[in-house]
Amino acid sequence: MAVITRARRESRPPGRIVRGLRFRLSFSYLLFFTFLLVVLGVLFRQVLHNTLYEQSVNLLEEEWGEMKGYLRIENANPEWVFDRFDPEESFIVNRIRRVYILMDRSGAILQRSANYSDGTLAPPTVRQVHAVLSSNGPVITIENGADGVTYMIRAGVIPEVRRAGSTRPHKDYYVSVGRPMEDSERTLNGFTWRYFALVPFIVAVTGAVGWLLAGRALAPVTSVSHVARRITGSNLSVQIPTRGSGDELDDLIEAFNRMTERLKHSFEQMRQFSTDVSHELRTPLTGIRGQLEVALFTAETPEQYREAMMNALQDVEKLSNMVRALLLLSQAESGQLALQMTTLDLSTVVSELVDQYQIAAEEEGVTLTCNAAPECLVQADRTQMERMVTNLVSNAIKYTNAGGRVDVALEYDETSARFRVQDTGIGIPAEDLPLIFDRFYRVKGRSTATKEGLGLGLSFVAWIVNAHNGKIEVDSNPGTGTTFTVTLPREGGVPEPAPAAAPQQQTA
Ligand code: ADP
Repeated sequence: MAVITRARRESRPPGRIVRGLRFRLSFSYLLFFTFLLVVLGVLFRQVLHNTLYEQSVNLLEEEWGEMKGYLRIENANPEWVFDRFDPEESFIVNRIRRVYILMDRSGAILQRSANYSDGTLAPPTVRQVHAVLSSNGPVITIENGADGVTYMIRAGVIPEVRRAGSTRPHKDYYVSVGRPMEDSERTLNGFTWRYFALVPFIVAVTGAVGWLLAGRALAPVTSVSHVARRITGSNLSVQIPTRGSGDELDDLIEAFNRMTERLKHSFEQMRQFSTDVSHELRTPLTGIRGQLEVALFTAETPEQYREAMMNALQDVEKLSNMVRALLLLSQAESGQLALQMTTLDLSTVVSELVDQYQIAAEEEGVTLTCNAAPECLVQADRTQMERMVTNLVSNAIKYTNAGGRVDVALEYDETSARFRVQDTGIGIPAEDLPLIFDRFYRVKGRSTATKEGLGLGLSFVAWIVNAHNGKIEVDSNPGTGTTFTVTLPREGGVPEPAPAAAPQQQTA
């Protein structure tokens, strides 16, 4: 058995590559993976952005708290109270005043950092000041400075410090502190650039790996198609090795291998059939030719002419029987043969036909007996029943040597009728039993060498039994004999003619 171990590589045109399963698998996988990467990137960026924003808000809140500890406003006069010689306090106050503005209710600026005076940041409008003064919580805004830097501004209210006993009305002041967002933005942009610059690289590597993996996964499919292309009628022994992984591809390969085995079997049957037909046709044709030559060249008297013609006619009869059998089987198997179902006494049919075979059996030196229970009614096609009985009985006589017996029996119960043909003939080897119902199958050796036949009889019997919803069983021992048992239903409606199927068999 030839085994293909490696598929031959063939270059494929680009159009076919794009339509190919490998490309589509890797491409859809890549598309999904890229989409996932982009979505994840956007998600991570948003999470990072929120974290940095919260961090800045917390830092500003911290600054605001410190500012409240150092800034005192009395009578519209702001004063930073801290130890100028303490570097830490000086640093904190300077950091607070980096982005800072103090305004009163009328919008007048009492104090501001340099970036509010040089136009980098616009001071809030009176309306904004009022909005902050009338709100309870802090107000956080993001502002774009003229220097191109984004600032986070935290605005709020600081009440003035009042001396004990002061009768002046209470005053609130607008104060805002801020911090540039440069660092946060740099971190965010750095992440974005690095991440999205990596995406094409990751996509390329993933695409290459996906392409390789898809190629490996689909390699058996490719090898199936390569092998399938090599299969011809004379090269059906080709088998594809399975990988032993037990996956779907192994199932496919096994199914394919089984299919080629079945095809091989059918091809062999067809080949055998052609050989058998030519062989079977040649014998009567040679006979006819011989008889015609006798009539033409050697016959002198009318009796001699007559005898040659009679012999030729017998051979013609044999030929036409053979062609009729072939035609009938092909009609039956293609569903063109309609059954004429009637209520039939199978007992009478069997007894009459066995009687007709008595002379043939005697000539062969075979004892033929019939034991049929009276009046066994079945729904059946008479012609087909006769054909089934004659095939089985004539086979039994044909394959039984002189001195042997053929016992035909018909029995029945309420539901079924059993027709049995038992002989003491040459028998059928166990390995041939599953095949004898196949078309054109003949057991090799003695039966094919000495007995005429096409191997069509039993396949026709199997079709008839199947079309009558029955079953056929065979039990055989080479040298001891063979028993065919046909069981037919006795009740039920008219069955639909069914195509011939493998009958049930019982081996010895
Ligand atoms: P054939 O025309 O060769 O008789 P069949 O289809 O009737 O074809 O039978 C198929 C083969 O089964 C036969 O060639 C023969 O080898 C085997 N066979 C059938 N009936 C018997 C039997 N009663 N005894 C032994 N062999 C049989």
